[in-house]
Amino acid sequence: MEDNYRPSRPYIFKRREMKGLSMEKLAFLDYRRLMSMQKELCRTKNVANGKSPFELHLNWILTQGEKVDTEMLCPQCKQSKIRNFMFTRRNGEPFVSLEYTACDDPNCIRSIKPSKNGVKVLPFKLSTLGHFSDKEEKKRVVSLFKRAFGLEKLRKDHIFELLCKAE
Ligand SMILES: [Zn+2]
Repeated sequence: MEDNYRPSRPYIFKRREMKGLSMEKLAFLDYRRLMSMQKELCRTKNVANGKSPFELHLNWILTQGEKVDTEMLCPQCKQSKIRNFMFTRRNGEPFVSLEYTACDDPNCIRSIKPSKNGVKVLPFKLSTLGHFSDKEEKKRVVSLFKRAFGLEKLRKDHIFELLCKAE
């Protein structure tokens, strides 16, 4: 990873069906797409050429997305920011809630994870969005992420700021 790559603005796609869409927004809407873009880059890589702005920005988003900080305090201890959430299905529907979130303290995590099958505790990292392929599950989890990160609307500038702040 290029430690010295510091973009000054979001990356906007210029070609084909994604024209006008930002890579920042795509990270929330379709994280798997970013993963397949990276795979494709690795497959077709020409080592002689340096990295393109597209590749630098993609790597930057994938890296920063693992370190983003939420805006909400842990409802269990009310001391640290939330870093994990519970995911389960209730009455056949995907279920997530800000009440069932926790910081990294094992006690807080324990209190959102009842010893029941099918209950997962997942981290608030953008790569977590890539775990979900079911449309409804993805919708619920993205909506939880928006609230946890204080992104009421998925605006590219706000997502970009969030990624810039991540350490
Ligand atoms: Zn806590």
